[in-house]
Formats: sequence, C-alpha cells, structure tokens
Amino acid sequence: MEREVIWLKPVLKENIWGGSRLVTEFHYRDEGSGLGECWGISAHPHGDCEIAEGPFQGKSLSWLYENHRELFGNIADPKFPLLVKIIDAKDKLSIQVHPDDAYAMAHENGSLGKTECWYVMDCPEGAELIIGHHAKTRKELIDMAHAGKFEELIRRVPVKRGDFVQIIPGTIHAITAGMLILETQQSSDVTYRFYDYGRLVDGKPRQLHLEQSLEVTNVPDVSDQTGLLHAQGLPENELYKLIDCQFYRVWKLNLNGSFETEQNDPFLLVSVLDGAGSIGGRAIKKGDHFILPAGYGVAKLEGQMELILSTVSDQA
Ligand code: ZN
Repeated sequence: MEREVIWLKPVLKENIWGGSRLVTEFHYRDEGSGLGECWGISAHPHGDCEIAEGPFQGKSLSWLYENHRELFGNIADPKFPLLVKIIDAKDKLSIQVHPDDAYAMAHENGSLGKTECWYVMDCPEGAELIIGHHAKTRKELIDMAHAGKFEELIRRVPVKRGDFVQIIPGTIHAITAGMLILETQQSSDVTYRFYDYGRLVDGKPRQLHLEQSLEVTNVPDVSDQTGLLHAQGLPENELYKLIDCQFYRVWKLNLNGSFETEQNDPFLLVSVLDGAGSIGGRAIKKGDHFILPAGYGVAKLEGQMELILSTVSDQA
C-alpha cells in the first residue's frame, strides 16, 4: 500500500524574547513580531499540530498517532516521542537545565525528561552559546550558585552557523541573542530555569527553579567536549548523520539536484530550512514541515534545499 505525506500546520508561540524572522523570512504569519517559536512537528499538549490536508485533515497529530499507529511503524511509545521546532531569539533566553526521564517521572507527574539538539541555522558573527558550567564538584556548584556567582559558573562557547549541539539532561544551556536554530527534542516541556541574567519582566524577576536545577545538573560538566559538532561544508545529496542517541537520529541533507531514499524507518520527520524544491513531484519550500509515514516507499526529493530529517532511535 502506498502511503501519502502527512502535511502539518505549525503551532506558533509568542515569547518576550522572540523576533520577527518567523514572519518576514518564513511567512508563518502575515504580520507581527515577538514570535519566538514555530512548533513544526509536535503532538505535545502545549502545541499539537493539525493535519493540513488529506483524509485526516483537521485532526491533530496526537489523534493520528493514537488512532493510526500503523503510520508510525506501530512503535510502542505511549505518546508521540519527538518534537521539532524553529526558534528565533531576538533577545537571549534564560539559562535552563532539563531533568532526565527518571527524575521527570518521579517529580513531574510522569513527564518525559528532555534530551534536545540544535542545528544552528543562523547567528551573528562572534556569537556564543551557554553550555555547561565550570564547577568541579557539586558543593562548588551549589556554593557558587547560592553566592550568585552565575557569570563565573556558566561556560560560554563560540558558535557558528552550521554548528550542531547535543544537550543531554543535566546540561545547563541557553541560546543567545540573534540565534536561529532548529531544535529536535524529546516531546517534553519540563524545564528548570537556572539563571535569567537578573532581568526583570514587568518589573519582577522571572521565577527560577534553583534547587531542582542544582539537583539535576551534571558535575563535572563535559558537554563542550562531547556535545558539539561542526557541520559546515557537508557533501551534497547525501544524508549526513548529525546524531544517533537513545532518543533520536537526526540527519542534514544539502540537496542540489535530486536525491532518493527508501523510507524504512517507523516514520521520518522532515523540515525545509532553506530553498525550494519538491517531494514526489509536489512543491515544497523553506519553512515546510512534514512526515513521511511507515510504508511511504521511495522518497524522491528535487531542488536546491537544506533539510533536517529525524526519526526515533533504532538502539534496542
Ligand atoms: Zn532546553
């Protein structure tokens, strides 16, 4: 049986730190600013994408996953496991850390933990991101945090367009002003805010979750040695694997001409970061997000495009 592409309507999120590029460059909306996130592929209750056309038009992705698991290779995960979003940060984001599955299960009503990864679509010259910290022991981490020495604690790492960053649970992290990223993550929204640069929002600091943060943060932190990949200048017309971890596999595809692949995974999530072209003869362009279901067969992509593709792990 031939199966069709699942086309999705993205869910847009306004944030105080959001910019205007999701409007001006990606045309997710006609006007407005302060748009921080486009949840392109999500079945999370905080933003459940609607199926845009076809026999399931108007249904949500969570409904489709619940009722037509065969389209997702009959995987056993009780909830759709991944979430793909584009983030446009005009201002820097607060510095956060996520728990792992075990901690989230015990302390956050059975939620998933959060492992996430970023493909840096754009950033200013000389940009830095926050990843990890410099404390050597948990006592040092706790003492410095309680003394308010956050600027000394956090680790800043230079970042360029085309870099790729894996953020495992327990890693303190933040993107900074001017970064445009595509994030692929476990479908979770559990975040502990560690530090917000002392900023005030409507005259008050935003709530921090310091005690939870200090409990889940990895010590010592080696994320700058293990989590960064420079993915510039990749070969054209082949899938380049950015990461293969216990939650997801993610690839970059720089398409110039045509590319074919047999879709043998439970499903394949596809986001067009730039350019235009087609899949199976149907036009696609920058900003589109869609899913190739199980049993889709051979996917033929044509055009000049940069794409990020992902699926669940095949690690048993
Ligand atoms: Zn995060």
